[in-house]
Amino acid sequence: MRTTVIIIGAGHAGLAMSRCLTDRAIDHVVLERGEVAHSWKTERWDSLQLLTPNWMSRLPGYGYEGDDPDGYRTMPETIAFLERYAAVSAAPVQTHTTVTSVCRADHGYTVSTDQGDWSCRAVVLASGACNLASVPAFAQGVPSTVAMLTTMDYRHPNQLEEGGVLVVGASASGVQIADEVHRSGRPVTLSVGEHVRVPRVYRGRDIQWWMEVTGLFDERYDEMENLARARRLPSMQLTGSVARRTLDLNALTDIGVKLIGRFAGIHDGRAQFAGSLRNMCTLADLKMDRLLDKIDAWATSNGFDRAVGLPHRFEPTRVDVSPPLGIDLQSGAIRTILWATGYRPDYSWLDVPVFDLRGRLRHEGGVVASPGMYALGLPVLRCRRSTFIDGAGNDARDLSAHLASYLDRGNSTYRRDGYELATSR
Ligand SMILES: Cc1cc2nc3c(=O)[nH]c(=O)nc-3n(C[C@H](O)[C@H](O)[C@H](O)COP(=O)(O)OP(=O)(O)OC[C@H]3O[C@@H](n4cnc5c(N)ncnc54)[C@H](O)[C@@H]3O)c2cc1C
Repeated sequence: MRTTVIIIGAGHAGLAMSRCLTDRAIDHVVLERGEVAHSWKTERWDSLQLLTPNWMSRLPGYGYEGDDPDGYRTMPETIAFLERYAAVSAAPVQTHTTVTSVCRADHGYTVSTDQGDWSCRAVVLASGACNLASVPAFAQGVPSTVAMLTTMDYRHPNQLEEGGVLVVGASASGVQIADEVHRSGRPVTLSVGEHVRVPRVYRGRDIQWWMEVTGLFDERYDEMENLARARRLPSMQLTGSVARRTLDLNALTDIGVKLIGRFAGIHDGRAQFAGSLRNMCTLADLKMDRLLDKIDAWATSNGFDRAVGLPHRFEPTRVDVSPPLGIDLQSGAIRTILWATGYRPDYSWLDVPVFDLRGRLRHEGGVVASPGMYALGLPVLRCRRSTFIDGAGNDARDLSAHLASYLDRGNSTYRRDGYELATSR
């Protein structure tokens, strides 16, 4: 089978690119191992609501159409949104087709799937940023009496045994799950490493609204002082709810969740925690205050001070003076460990030398280090907004323009590292 462009993955990123290619009359197929919105259907917990407001889902030719732009979608709503996008765009999605290999071939790529092989001139990797849960190697040392699961396996608290739960990781997934599990009657200890604290609402407006109007979301990848760090940054401690509540560490302490330092290792069945909890929290408080300072300065210089509430600051994170540095995992106090330690993409099927020494995809703003190969849907791909559904629109527009000119040019010359010579990015 032959087509001009293969897009791998029918999440929002693949669908956005499909729409852009359709608008440019570029022949393409979207290959999807499950169905449209597969990861939202199969890899998220039941109560999850997006942490981005409804208005933050602008995709090419499509956006929020309801009467609650400031609300946060539930999972069924998110799935319905993407299914409708695929339908109105008439995206050429071939479902239940798993890509098993992508190799260089004459004039393009061979994309092998469990439904046969495709030849194409260009490939778009839109297979997701969160295919695998990142779990530290020392998890192997957890005694067999303690159950373990990741945020990708977690669905609801009743799936867990009664008894204590250690949630590892205090970013968006970790704080949301810690809150839900603790409220179910299972006492939660939350292991806290580096995290990004933000209020849900500041001066009467959603924090994402502030990030939008101040231009923080639009900071470009090629203008950042430390791009690698921006791409590694944990997700903001946020949750979507009707009450628009702030879910920070103080809110968790208020309901009885115990805070403990970063999970550093396991020795003889004993979990060991770093003594840096206070420092981690002080740093997160400081960074939040710096963000709020920026917002206040923007509001003043743009004449917004009268349109929003008064500037204020939040209570510093409350931390025990000397939180425990160890827990005996054989004592029965902890029955389950829930790893909320992040995600990574799975490119195990990508047989093209486009990875750096750490196994990360080499790309410049989504232009992958192999002719005619592009990536979408990765954190801070072209700007900070790229991390969210809302960023895929502009990214797909930019990259589809690059892809179209690549197809027009035919044979080009390439540097040794795989990037094309003299292209605009
Ligand atoms: C817990 C959680 C909460 C999130 N909350 C928000 C939020 O509030 N707001 C927001 O904007 N974003 C949120 N994100 C989503 C984030 O925006 C996306 O994970 C990311 O941007 C990737 O989107 P995507 O379309 O690229 O990937 P996905 O939606 O993961 O789509 C990739 C598709 O590729 C398919 N695929 C993968 N491998 C293959 C293969 N080998 N062959 C064929 N098909 C394949 C998958 O089945 C999947 O359907 C959240 C993510 C997670 C994990």
